[in-house]
Amino acid sequence: MPFQIDRREFLHTVAAATGVIVPTFRSAEGVSGQAAAGEWGSPVFDIHLHPRATVEGSLAHLDGSGVTKAVLLTGAAAEERAKQTVAAHPTRFVRFASIDMTQPAAIDYLRTAAKEGAIGFGEIKSQVAAASPEMQRLYAMAAELNLPVTIHFQEVNQPNSPGTFNTGLKQFDAMLRKFPKTTFIGHADAFWANVSADYAEDTSYPTGPIKPGGVTDRFLGDYPNLYADMSANSGNNFLNRDPEFAARFIERHQNKLMFGSDCSCADGHGTSGRGASAGRCIARATLTMLKKLAPADQFRKIVWENGNRLLKA
Ligand SMILES: [Zn+2]
Ligand SMILES: [Zn+2]
Repeated sequence: MPFQIDRREFLHTVAAATGVIVPTFRSAEGVSGQAAAGEWGSPVFDIHLHPRATVEGSLAHLDGSGVTKAVLLTGAAAEERAKQTVAAHPTRFVRFASIDMTQPAAIDYLRTAAKEGAIGFGEIKSQVAAASPEMQRLYAMAAELNLPVTIHFQEVNQPNSPGTFNTGLKQFDAMLRKFPKTTFIGHADAFWANVSADYAEDTSYPTGPIKPGGVTDRFLGDYPNLYADMSANSGNNFLNRDPEFAARFIERHQNKLMFGSDCSCADGHGTSGRGASAGRCIARATLTMLKKLAPADQFRKIVWENGNRLLKA
C-alpha cells in the first residue's frame, strides 16, 4: 500500500524538519489519530503485545483499549502472521522477533528476522542465566545491528509461566557494563520486584511498601543503555503496591519507562483474558494507574514518546 507508506514518511519528515514530535498514526480505516489520543489524552504505543490468532484480532485489542500502535512480540510460530499484520496495518503495528536462545540456530534466525523487518528482539525468554554465553551472543549481535532487546527476567516458578528465565538480574550490571552499545529493555516479575531492595526471589508479585535502593532502580539510574517495559501483572503490581514510591520512580526515570500491556484479552475491555488478564484488560488497568501517578508530560513520554524514540518506530 504505497499511499500509506508515503504518508507515514511524509509525517516523519515533518517531524524531523520542525523538531516537533508529530504522532505518525494515521489509519486507512478512518479512525483518526486524534480520536485514539482522546481517550487517554495522548496517543499510546503498546510496546508489548503478542499477536492474536488473526490479523483482525490483534487490531481489535488496539482499538478496544484506545491504543494507537503496538509492537508485536513474536515467536517463530507466529512470525508469518505478524508480518501479515504489519503489512495490512503499517501505521498500527511494528514487530520484534524472538526465539529460545538455546536453539543452535537462534542467532541466524534473529539475524534473518531483522533483515526481514523485525525492529528489535524479544521478548527473549530462555531458560538460561541472563549472563550466559547464549545471551551474550545475542547482546553482541543486537549492538552490531543497533536493535533493542526485551528480556523476560523471572527467578520464581509460576503456574502460568513454569520455570525460571534469564536469571541473575541482581548481577546484571556486569552485562550493562560489558555491552554498553546494546539497548536493553527489562520486563517481567524479577525486573519489577527488584525495584525493592528487599526482594528475596521467593515470590512473583510482592506486595506492600518498597524498600528504596533495589537493583532495578539503581541500574536505570546508572546505565544509559537500560530501559523498562511496564507491561503485564509485574509492571501493574509495581505501580499498585506502593503508589507514592511509584510516582517518584516515574519522575526519576521518566525518559526510560515505556508502557506495554502483555494483555491477552480479546477486545481491550477484559473479555476472554487469561491469567492476570482474567476479567480485566491490563492495558486499561496500567494506563489508568499511570495517568493517576504521572503528570501529563511524564505520562505522554511513557505511553508514547519514549517508545517512538527508542524503537525509531
Ligand atoms: Zn514475558
Ligand atoms: Zn486487554
